Amino acid sequence: MTVMNEDILRVKGLVKHFFTRLGTVRAVDNVSFAIRRGETFGLVGESGSGKTTVAHTLVGIYKPTGGEAYFRDQSLGEDFSHRSKALKKNIRIVFQDPGSSLNPRWSIKQILELPLRIHRTSYGKNHVEAVSELLRMVELPPEEYLYKYPQAIGGGEKQMVAIARALATEPDFVALDEPTSALDVSIQAKIIKLLTRLQKKLDLTYLFITHDLSLMRNMANRVAIMYLGKIAEVAPTREFFQKPLHPYTNMLLSSIPVTSDEEEKLKPKQIRSTGEIPSPVNIPPGCSFHLRCPRCMDICSRLDPVMTEKEAGHWVRCHLYPAAGQ
Ligand code: SF4
Repeated sequence: MTVMNEDILRVKGLVKHFFTRLGTVRAVDNVSFAIRRGETFGLVGESGSGKTTVAHTLVGIYKPTGGEAYFRDQSLGEDFSHRSKALKKNIRIVFQDPGSSLNPRWSIKQILELPLRIHRTSYGKNHVEAVSELLRMVELPPEEYLYKYPQAIGGGEKQMVAIARALATEPDFVALDEPTSALDVSIQAKIIKLLTRLQKKLDLTYLFITHDLSLMRNMANRVAIMYLGKIAEVAPTREFFQKPLHPYTNMLLSSIPVTSDEEEKLKPKQIRSTGEIPSPVNIPPGCSFHLRCPRCMDICSRLDPVMTEKEAGHWVRCHLYPAAGQ
Protein backbone atom coordinates (compact mmCIF):
# COMPACT_ATOMS: atom_id res chain seq x y z
CA MET A 1 0.00 0.00 0.00
CA THR A 2 1.22 3.50 -0.67
CA VAL A 3 1.61 5.90 2.23
CA MET A 4 -1.51 8.02 2.57
CA ASN A 5 -1.59 11.64 3.57
CA GLU A 6 -3.72 10.77 6.57
CA ASP A 7 -2.54 10.31 10.16
CA ILE A 8 -3.68 6.96 11.50
CA LEU A 9 -2.12 7.46 14.96
CA ARG A 10 -1.38 10.74 16.72
CA VAL A 11 0.52 10.88 19.98
CA LYS A 12 0.61 14.17 21.90
CA GLY A 13 2.86 14.84 24.88
CA LEU A 14 3.05 11.19 25.97
CA VAL A 15 4.63 10.72 29.40
CA LYS A 16 5.38 7.45 31.16
CA HIS A 17 7.16 7.58 34.49
CA PHE A 18 7.90 4.61 36.74
CA PHE A 19 8.07 5.32 40.45
CA THR A 20 10.78 3.13 42.02
CA ARG A 21 12.69 2.96 45.30
CA LEU A 22 15.60 4.68 43.59
CA GLY A 23 13.47 7.56 42.34
CA THR A 24 11.30 8.43 39.34
CA VAL A 25 12.34 6.81 36.07
CA ARG A 26 11.32 9.21 33.30
CA ALA A 27 11.12 6.50 30.64
CA VAL A 28 9.03 8.57 28.21
CA ASP A 29 8.99 12.32 28.67
CA ASN A 30 6.66 14.43 26.56
CA VAL A 31 6.84 12.54 23.27
CA SER A 32 4.73 13.62 20.28
CA PHE A 33 4.53 12.14 16.79
CA ALA A 34 2.03 11.16 14.10
CA ILE A 35 2.09 8.04 11.93
CA ARG A 36 0.60 8.12 8.43
CA ARG A 37 -1.61 5.38 7.11
CA GLY A 38 0.40 2.78 5.21
CA GLU A 39 3.84 3.86 6.39
CA THR A 40 6.47 2.21 8.52
CA PHE A 41 7.45 4.70 11.20
CA GLY A 42 10.75 3.74 12.79
CA LEU A 43 11.73 4.42 16.38
CA VAL A 44 15.43 3.92 17.12
CA GLY A 45 17.62 4.52 20.11
CA GLU A 46 19.98 2.80 22.49
CA SER A 47 18.77 0.47 25.17
CA GLY A 48 16.94 2.51 27.83
CA SER A 49 15.97 5.30 25.40
CA GLY A 50 12.25 4.65 26.01
CA LYS A 51 11.32 3.34 22.56
CA THR A 52 9.83 0.07 23.82
CA THR A 53 7.98 1.90 26.61
CA VAL A 54 6.31 4.08 23.95
CA ALA A 55 5.01 0.97 22.14
CA HIS A 56 3.95 -0.81 25.33
CA THR A 57 2.07 2.28 26.52
CA LEU A 58 0.30 2.68 23.18
CA VAL A 59 -0.97 -0.91 23.19
CA GLY A 60 -2.19 -0.57 26.78
CA ILE A 61 0.42 -2.61 28.67
CA TYR A 62 1.33 0.48 30.71
CA LYS A 63 -1.00 3.22 31.83
CA PRO A 64 0.39 6.56 30.63
CA THR A 65 1.41 9.10 33.27
CA GLY A 66 0.24 11.86 30.93
CA GLY A 67 -0.47 12.81 27.36
CA GLU A 68 -2.99 11.77 24.73
CA ALA A 69 -3.17 9.45 21.76
CA TYR A 70 -5.69 9.18 18.95
CA PHE A 71 -6.32 6.34 16.52
CA ARG A 72 -7.84 8.02 13.50
CA ASP A 73 -9.93 10.55 15.42
CA GLN A 74 -10.79 8.33 18.33
CA SER A 75 -9.11 9.04 21.66
CA LEU A 76 -7.43 6.11 23.43
CA GLY A 77 -8.66 7.68 26.68
CA GLU A 78 -6.71 8.31 29.87
CA ASP A 79 -5.86 4.66 30.44
CA PHE A 80 -5.01 3.13 27.08
CA SER A 81 -5.64 -0.41 28.39
CA HIS A 82 -9.32 0.48 28.90
CA ARG A 83 -9.86 1.57 25.32
CA SER A 84 -12.76 0.17 23.32
CA LYS A 85 -12.77 -3.36 21.91
CA ALA A 86 -12.67 -1.92 18.38
CA LEU A 87 -9.48 -0.04 19.23
CA LYS A 88 -7.96 -3.13 20.86
CA LYS A 89 -8.71 -5.07 17.68
CA ASN A 90 -7.09 -2.40 15.51
CA ILE A 91 -3.90 -1.72 17.49
CA ARG A 92 -1.75 -4.82 17.93
CA ILE A 93 1.81 -5.66 18.90
CA VAL A 94 4.49 -8.23 18.07
CA PHE A 95 6.98 -8.59 20.93
CA GLN A 96 10.72 -8.98 20.78
CA ASP A 97 10.97 -12.43 22.30
CA PRO A 98 8.51 -14.91 20.79
CA GLY A 99 9.74 -17.53 23.29
CA SER A 100 8.20 -15.75 26.24
CA SER A 101 5.22 -14.19 24.45
CA LEU A 102 3.60 -17.54 23.53
CA ASN A 103 1.98 -19.67 26.24
CA PRO A 104 4.04 -22.92 26.33
CA ARG A 105 1.03 -24.95 27.58
CA TRP A 106 -1.13 -24.05 24.60
CA SER A 107 -0.98 -25.54 21.11
CA ILE A 108 -0.57 -23.15 18.20
CA LYS A 109 -4.23 -23.74 17.36
CA GLN A 110 -5.27 -22.64 20.87
CA ILE A 111 -2.95 -19.61 20.77
CA LEU A 112 -4.42 -18.37 17.50
CA GLU A 113 -8.01 -19.21 18.40
CA LEU A 114 -8.08 -16.90 21.43
CA PRO A 115 -8.03 -13.53 19.58
CA LEU A 116 -10.54 -14.95 17.05
CA ARG A 117 -12.94 -15.86 19.86
CA ILE A 118 -12.58 -12.50 21.63
CA HIS A 119 -12.88 -10.31 18.57
CA ARG A 120 -15.13 -12.50 16.33
CA THR A 121 -13.48 -11.33 13.14
CA SER A 122 -14.63 -12.02 9.61
CA TYR A 123 -12.97 -15.43 9.84
CA GLY A 124 -16.31 -16.73 11.10
CA LYS A 125 -17.00 -19.68 13.39
CA ASN A 126 -14.87 -22.36 11.78
CA HIS A 127 -11.79 -21.77 13.90
CA VAL A 128 -9.74 -24.65 12.50
CA GLU A 129 -10.07 -23.24 9.01
CA ALA A 130 -9.49 -19.68 10.28
CA VAL A 131 -6.35 -20.68 12.20
CA SER A 132 -5.12 -22.63 9.16
CA GLU A 133 -5.63 -19.53 7.03
CA LEU A 134 -3.60 -17.44 9.50
CA LEU A 135 -0.78 -20.01 9.44
CA ARG A 136 -0.75 -20.02 5.63
CA MET A 137 -0.57 -16.24 5.71
CA VAL A 138 2.71 -16.42 7.67
CA GLU A 139 4.01 -19.25 5.47
CA LEU A 140 3.64 -22.09 7.99
CA PRO A 141 1.84 -25.18 6.59
CA PRO A 142 -1.14 -25.76 8.94
CA GLU A 143 -1.00 -29.56 8.64
CA GLU A 144 2.46 -29.42 10.23
CA TYR A 145 1.98 -26.68 12.84
CA LEU A 146 -1.65 -26.63 14.01
CA TYR A 147 -1.23 -29.03 16.92
CA LYS A 148 2.39 -28.32 17.81
CA TYR A 149 3.43 -26.52 21.00
CA PRO A 150 5.77 -23.49 21.03
CA GLN A 151 8.68 -25.45 22.54
CA ALA A 152 8.62 -27.84 19.58
CA ILE A 153 9.31 -25.14 16.99
CA GLY A 154 12.26 -22.81 16.26
CA GLY A 155 12.59 -19.11 17.18
CA GLY A 156 11.73 -17.87 13.68
CA GLU A 157 8.64 -20.09 13.52
CA LYS A 158 7.55 -18.85 16.96
CA GLN A 159 7.83 -15.27 15.73
CA MET A 160 5.74 -16.20 12.66
CA VAL A 161 3.04 -17.56 15.02
CA ALA A 162 3.27 -14.33 17.06
CA ILE A 163 2.78 -12.31 13.86
CA ALA A 164 -0.22 -14.50 12.93
CA ARG A 165 -1.67 -13.88 16.42
CA ALA A 166 -1.28 -10.12 15.99
CA LEU A 167 -3.00 -10.29 12.59
CA ALA A 168 -5.83 -12.55 13.78
CA THR A 169 -7.97 -9.52 14.65
CA GLU A 170 -7.45 -7.95 11.20
CA PRO A 171 -5.78 -4.81 12.59
CA ASP A 172 -4.83 -1.65 10.70
CA PHE A 173 -1.86 -0.85 12.93
CA VAL A 174 0.86 -3.10 14.35
CA ALA A 175 3.70 -2.12 16.69
CA LEU A 176 6.75 -4.28 15.97
CA ASP A 177 8.96 -4.22 19.05
CA GLU A 178 12.42 -5.38 17.91
CA PRO A 179 10.74 -8.28 16.08
CA THR A 180 13.99 -9.84 14.86
CA SER A 181 16.57 -9.01 17.50
CA ALA A 182 16.12 -12.30 19.41
CA LEU A 183 16.56 -14.36 16.21
CA ASP A 184 19.50 -15.80 14.27
CA VAL A 185 20.75 -13.57 11.46
CA SER A 186 19.67 -16.14 8.83
CA ILE A 187 16.06 -16.01 10.11
CA GLN A 188 15.95 -12.22 10.51
CA ALA A 189 15.84 -11.55 6.74
CA LYS A 190 12.99 -14.05 6.34
CA ILE A 191 10.89 -12.34 9.03
CA ILE A 192 11.55 -8.88 7.57
CA LYS A 193 10.51 -10.08 4.10
CA LEU A 194 7.36 -11.61 5.55
CA LEU A 195 6.47 -8.39 7.41
CA THR A 196 7.02 -6.32 4.26
CA ARG A 197 4.88 -8.66 2.16
CA LEU A 198 2.08 -8.68 4.76
CA GLN A 199 2.14 -4.89 5.00
CA LYS A 200 1.45 -4.58 1.28
CA LYS A 201 -1.12 -7.34 1.16
CA LEU A 202 -3.11 -6.25 4.22
CA ASP A 203 -2.68 -2.45 4.05
CA LEU A 204 -0.91 -2.36 7.41
CA THR A 205 0.72 0.57 9.16
CA TYR A 206 3.77 -0.26 11.30
CA LEU A 207 5.51 1.32 14.25
CA PHE A 208 8.88 -0.39 13.88
CA ILE A 209 11.19 -0.37 16.88
CA THR A 210 14.81 -1.38 16.69
CA HIS A 211 18.28 -0.42 17.85
CA ASP A 212 19.61 -1.68 14.48
CA LEU A 213 20.09 1.37 12.24
CA SER A 214 21.03 -0.70 9.17
CA LEU A 215 17.74 -2.56 9.40
CA MET A 216 15.89 0.70 9.93
CA ARG A 217 17.39 2.15 6.75
CA ASN A 218 15.77 -0.64 4.70
CA MET A 219 12.48 -0.88 6.51
CA ALA A 220 11.18 2.57 7.51
CA ASN A 221 9.62 5.45 5.57
CA ARG A 222 10.43 7.88 8.38
CA VAL A 223 12.67 7.56 11.40
CA ALA A 224 12.53 9.09 14.88
CA ILE A 225 15.46 8.74 17.24
CA MET A 226 14.97 8.71 21.01
CA TYR A 227 17.42 9.62 23.75
CA LEU A 228 16.57 9.33 27.45
CA GLY A 229 12.82 9.37 26.93
CA LYS A 230 12.65 12.18 24.37
CA ILE A 231 12.63 12.32 20.59
CA ALA A 232 15.84 14.03 19.40
CA GLU A 233 15.19 14.05 15.63
CA VAL A 234 12.54 12.91 13.11
CA ALA A 235 13.03 12.81 9.34
CA PRO A 236 12.16 10.89 6.18
CA THR A 237 14.50 7.87 6.14
CA ARG A 238 16.72 9.02 3.26
CA GLU A 239 17.25 12.42 4.81
CA PHE A 240 17.78 10.93 8.26
CA PHE A 241 20.71 8.88 6.97
CA GLN A 242 22.09 11.40 4.47
CA LYS A 243 21.68 14.68 6.32
CA PRO A 244 21.45 13.94 10.05
CA LEU A 245 21.34 17.09 12.17
CA HIS A 246 21.36 16.12 15.83
CA PRO A 247 24.79 15.36 17.35
CA TYR A 248 23.38 12.17 18.89
CA THR A 249 22.08 10.95 15.50
CA ASN A 250 25.50 11.70 13.99
CA MET A 251 27.18 9.80 16.79
CA LEU A 252 25.07 6.69 16.28
CA LEU A 253 25.25 6.80 12.47
CA SER A 254 29.02 7.15 12.51
CA SER A 255 29.31 3.82 14.28
CA ILE A 256 27.14 1.58 12.06
CA PRO A 257 28.72 -0.79 9.54
CA VAL A 258 28.16 0.16 5.87
CA THR A 259 27.54 -2.21 2.98
CA SER A 260 28.44 -0.08 -0.06
CA ASP A 261 30.81 2.70 -1.19
CA GLU A 262 27.81 5.01 -1.50
CA GLU A 263 26.89 4.43 2.16
CA GLU A 264 30.55 4.91 3.17
CA LYS A 265 30.59 8.34 1.48
CA LEU A 266 27.44 9.43 3.30
CA LYS A 267 28.47 8.17 6.71
CA PRO A 268 29.25 10.95 9.22
CA LYS A 269 32.84 11.12 10.46
CA GLN A 270 33.46 8.96 13.51
CA ILE A 271 32.25 10.97 16.49
CA ARG A 272 33.25 10.01 19.97
CA SER A 273 30.91 10.93 22.73
CA THR A 274 32.26 11.94 26.09
CA GLY A 275 30.85 10.65 29.38
CA GLU A 276 28.40 7.90 30.15
CA ILE A 277 24.64 7.67 29.48
CA PRO A 278 23.09 9.30 32.56
CA SER A 279 20.77 7.22 34.71
CA PRO A 280 17.08 7.70 33.76
CA VAL A 281 16.39 8.48 37.44
CA ASN A 282 18.92 11.29 37.33
CA ILE A 283 18.54 13.01 33.97
CA PRO A 284 20.66 16.18 33.83
CA PRO A 285 18.96 19.58 33.45
CA GLY A 286 19.01 21.36 30.10
CA CYS A 287 19.60 19.15 27.07
CA SER A 288 19.75 15.58 28.38
CA PHE A 289 22.59 14.81 25.92
CA HIS A 290 24.84 17.68 27.04
CA LEU A 291 27.15 15.57 29.21
CA ARG A 292 28.07 13.44 26.16
CA CYS A 293 27.75 15.94 23.35
CA PRO A 294 30.93 16.92 21.46
CA ARG A 295 29.25 20.20 20.41
CA CYS A 296 27.88 21.20 23.82
CA MET A 297 27.51 24.97 24.33
CA ASP A 298 26.95 27.05 27.40
CA ILE A 299 23.18 27.20 26.97
CA CYS A 300 22.88 23.41 26.69
CA SER A 301 23.30 22.68 30.39
CA ARG A 302 20.70 25.30 31.31
CA LEU A 303 17.89 25.08 28.78
CA ASP A 304 16.13 22.06 27.30
CA PRO A 305 15.85 22.67 23.53
CA VAL A 306 12.51 22.47 21.74
CA MET A 307 11.67 20.62 18.53
CA THR A 308 12.21 22.76 15.43
CA GLU A 309 11.33 21.93 11.81
CA LYS A 310 14.48 22.66 9.81
CA GLU A 311 13.28 21.28 6.45
CA ALA A 312 9.81 20.08 5.54
CA GLY A 313 9.23 17.04 7.74
CA HIS A 314 12.73 17.15 9.28
CA TRP A 315 12.49 18.02 12.99
CA VAL A 316 15.34 18.33 15.47
CA ARG A 317 15.63 19.13 19.17
CA CYS A 318 18.97 20.90 19.62
CA HIS A 319 20.25 24.43 20.38
CA LEU A 320 22.40 24.29 17.24
CA TYR A 321 19.14 24.69 15.31
CA PRO A 322 17.13 27.36 17.11
CA ALA A 323 13.54 28.02 16.16
CA ALA A 324 12.91 31.15 14.13
CA GLY A 325 12.85 34.18 16.44
CA GLN A 326 14.93 32.51 19.19
FE1 SF4 B 1 24.53 19.01 21.96
FE2 SF4 B 1 23.60 21.30 22.92
FE3 SF4 B 1 22.45 20.17 20.82
FE4 SF4 B 1 22.19 19.08 23.22
S1 SF4 B 1 21.40 21.06 22.57
S2 SF4 B 1 22.64 18.02 21.34
S3 SF4 B 1 24.18 19.48 24.10
S4 SF4 B 1 24.52 21.01 20.94
